[in-house]
Amino acid sequence: MTTEILDCSEESLIKASEFIMRGEVVGMPTETVYGLAANAFDAEAVEKIFAAKGRPSDNPLIVHVSDFDMIKEAVSDVPELAYKLAERFWPGPLTMIMPKSESVPYVTSGGLDTVGIRFPSHPAAHRLIELCGVPLAAPSANLSGSPSPTTSKRVLDDMNGRIPAIIDGGESLVGVESTVISFENGGVRILRPGGITREMLLEVCPAEVDRGVLSEVGSGAVVRSPGMKYRHYAPKASVKLIKGSVEKYREYVLHNASEGDFCLLFDDCEAVPGVPHLCYGSSAEIQAHVLFERLRQLDEKNAKTVFARCPDPDGVGLAVYNRILRAAGFCVIDLEEK
Ligand code: AMP
Ligand code: MG
Repeated sequence: MTTEILDCSEESLIKASEFIMRGEVVGMPTETVYGLAANAFDAEAVEKIFAAKGRPSDNPLIVHVSDFDMIKEAVSDVPELAYKLAERFWPGPLTMIMPKSESVPYVTSGGLDTVGIRFPSHPAAHRLIELCGVPLAAPSANLSGSPSPTTSKRVLDDMNGRIPAIIDGGESLVGVESTVISFENGGVRILRPGGITREMLLEVCPAEVDRGVLSEVGSGAVVRSPGMKYRHYAPKASVKLIKGSVEKYREYVLHNASEGDFCLLFDDCEAVPGVPHLCYGSSAEIQAHVLFERLRQLDEKNAKTVFARCPDPDGVGLAVYNRILRAAGFCVIDLEEK
């Protein structure tokens, strides 16, 4: 199969929607990361997403809608709070887990009776769903386990020959996947942090961060979100997350780095003599925007060990911290610890 790159013109989006309605999978830009989209109600088409990604079948897909009415087709019972949150944060990077309707096959929901729903704000994603007239199941468009793609080129790197088309919608604005929440006790539980922060959710309702966001879920533990079980976002290099002042960081790297190792810094001024580096910015928003691209670049440079400066876990920074923690396989070195 050859993989065609399409632009965001109406003509190209119609072509993409025709692929999807024939049961094919298409690479779709969204404001979070690129997705692999198929008709969420078509079990056979959704199987093709799992095959293209090599994704474990118990890891559910997020279902994308283009208007409020479409939610009712995919969800059997919409909580009152969901409408309130939708009004405030949709279209945008918020996924809400709700009881699924019979139209959603178990392949899409990873065998669960619930389904995660999101209304993306990227105009091309919005128009594509509208043209298809059905909700689109779309996980991140990477091979399972590798960093999510934030450009059409990165989708092509992973999906060339596996899917018929990719829509090029520019760089993903947010750069990390959506915030995933479930409903409980009149509030929400954050199962995966993203562009909609806890602080933003707290303006509407009580919001708690699930333990699995910041720590490794042990075997046998209750996992509220199947994605937590898998070592996501893993580059080929071994990533070490280093907590502490820039002075201590420099000293640590000088003593521990060898040939082929890299630093991942907030900015150029922190460079360690003799050790090559990439930067991922000093604000949480920039870090979110570039993190996955930097992880892919480090792989291209055949980095052996990556010494990463630890991001501040506030606001969108919690999403950055969660992703890099997983990329590091939960390896954190705290230089300030006594
Ligand atoms: P991705 O599509 O790669 O962004 O991953 C979607 C993630 O959302 C999954 O790995 C799950 O962790 C989470 N998710 C999706 N649907 C559900 C659901 N019904 N229940 C719990 N978590 C879900
Ligand atoms: Mg993913």
